[in-house]
Amino acid sequence: MRGLLVGRMQPVHDGHLDVIKRIFEDVNEVIIGVGSAQLSHKTKDPFTAGERVMMLSKALTENGIPASKYYIIPIEDVSCNSIWVAHVKMLTPPFTTVYSGNPLVQRLFEESGHPVKVPPLFNRKIYSGTEVRRRMLKNEDWQSLVPKSVVKVIDEINGVSRLQNLGYKELDE
Ligand code: NAD
Repeated sequence: MRGLLVGRMQPVHDGHLDVIKRIFEDVNEVIIGVGSAQLSHKTKDPFTAGERVMMLSKALTENGIPASKYYIIPIEDVSCNSIWVAHVKMLTPPFTTVYSGNPLVQRLFEESGHPVKVPPLFNRKIYSGTEVRRRMLKNEDWQSLVPKSVVKVIDEINGVSRLQNLGYKELDE
């Protein structure tokens, strides 16, 4: 059995790890689609698909999940929602169940006849990409919301300085 989770992961945080671990209770392989793969260097989407792939693979290793158990696949957005599921399926290995807390993702897969499960959200107020990015912009503690290996990746790519730069630039525009 193989499950699919799609997320922007801007950046990967402990909520993503929590949901991935829950999916592994149901299925033995997980496909993780890195959504909006074409976007980077924006305040809402600061990290490239490659950087997000690196965050995920290091965080999964940190959590003892072997690479043979998952596939990480960048997925660019398409302009028509009605063909997005077909686009995702073209890029991913076959899957049985889709896991998502996102209502649009749930709806599109359900309408295409795929079983969808809605995993519980783990303290979504703080474990969200929006909150992690907000804290990065304000020099507040974002590190406690993400796996240690993700802190290392973000430090390696100077991610906080990139985001702060983008944030100031957008305020000027
Ligand atoms: P996200 O990173 O916010 O969340 C991904 C998943 O992680 C959620 O569905 C949820 O199950 C889980 N999650 C997040 N926070 C959690 C927490 N605190 N506790 C437990 N689980 C948590 O990403 P998203 O916004 O859902 O990503 C959807 C992607 O699909 C986007 O990239 C979007 O552009 C793409 N999409 C594209 C199209 C299109 O191209 N037409 C259509 C629909 C969706």
